[in-house]
Order: sequence, then structure tokens, then C-alpha cells
Amino acid sequence: MRHDPELLFKYLDQTQELYGNNLFLDTQTKINPMHDINRLELFCESICECQECPLGSTRTNFVFGLGNPNADIVFVGEAPGEKEDLVGEPFVGRAGKLLDKILAAIDLTREDIYICNVLKCRPPQNRDPLPSEVNSCEPHLKTQLLLINPKLIVALGRVSACTILKTKEPLKNLRNQIFQYEGIDLIVTYHPAALLRNPNFKKPAWEDFQLIRDKYLIQN
Ligand code: URA
Repeated sequence: MRHDPELLFKYLDQTQELYGNNLFLDTQTKINPMHDINRLELFCESICECQECPLGSTRTNFVFGLGNPNADIVFVGEAPGEKEDLVGEPFVGRAGKLLDKILAAIDLTREDIYICNVLKCRPPQNRDPLPSEVNSCEPHLKTQLLLINPKLIVALGRVSACTILKTKEPLKNLRNQIFQYEGIDLIVTYHPAALLRNPNFKKPAWEDFQLIRDKYLIQN
């Protein structure tokens, strides 16, 4: 069943107004009623059984995202790979290790940021996401980004950038610009897997991360 996040949050707002932060739910629900409402977790609960596209039946785990739900910066990749599908977390393979190193170079850890993907389920054999899969999954990403409401979204790679910005421009034309997504700044850079495949991309990618550091991390 598809849950409408707008309706869910309206219901929660009304419930919170009436009862405060203790939720009164029926016994069928998976949410612990004693917990304060965490909208992102609640949203994850509402979509993690998703079967909107055929990837729902081939995934091992639904990979929602991970990190600080109040992060100032959200990194958005393409889709879970084999390891991510097995573990249920984004960027835990080789590309993720490289991303961790780049983050460390600008004094960030995974606890400071939030990481997710356009697709929440792994495409078989890590093939490119199909347009129909992107269309099914994109509303999940949009709600996730609006709930976190960061200062900056960093789109990692072409699939992420082109999905969020609704463009077909090549990645190199999208770098070095600050776009807006629902009022949130957005920067495009190379996917860490592309840096592993082509070390020539490392220098321009480092320039992108320096821009992120200088504009969004260094307090003036
Ligand atoms: N590549 C991605 O785009 N996302 C992951 O989570 C892992 C590899």
C-alpha cells in the first residue's frame, strides 16, 4: 500500500496538537508509542515495504539512508549496490570508503551528514536505474529531502543530478554552479565510483569539495 506522506504528517500534527508528543496508536502499528515523533523514521517505516516497482521483489534490503537527520548537508547517490543491498545502508562498499576519505579531508564524518540514494532498492547487476524506477522512487527522495531540510544537497553523479534537477545535461556542464531544489542549494559533483574508475576526475572533484567546505562549512 502506498502511504501519502502529506496525509500522514497532517494526521501526526493533529495528533500531536491533541495529545502532545506521546502518540496513541493502535496495537497493529510498528511504531513504539512511547517514542517522540521522529518524522524521518516514521517516513521510513511508511515506505520500507515499498513494491511500487519490480525492484521491490528483487531487493534484499530497502536502503532508506543514513546519518544525521538534522544534517546541514545531504549527499545523494544513485542506487544501492550489492553490499548496500546486503547491509541495508548506503555507500558501504569501495565507493563509500572513498567518499569517507573525501569527507574526512574537509573535516566531516558520516555523523555530520546524511547520505541516501535516488533509488532505495538495488537494480540487478548494478545496471543503471530505469526511468520507470526513478519515477516510482523519486517521491520518496523528495519527501526525505524536505524532512531533513538541509542547507545543501550534493548530487553525486549524473543519475542523481539529472533526476533531482530534471535535466539531461552532461555532468560536466552541471558542476561549478549552485542550483536550487525546493529552496535548498544544490551542487553537483562526480560519483565516487567514477573517481575510482577515472582518477582524472579526482582533481575537479576535490575542487567541488573545497567549494562545499568554503561556502557551507567555514563560518565567516
Ligand atoms: N553507489 C551509489 O550510488 N550508492 C550507494 O549506496 C553505493 C554505491
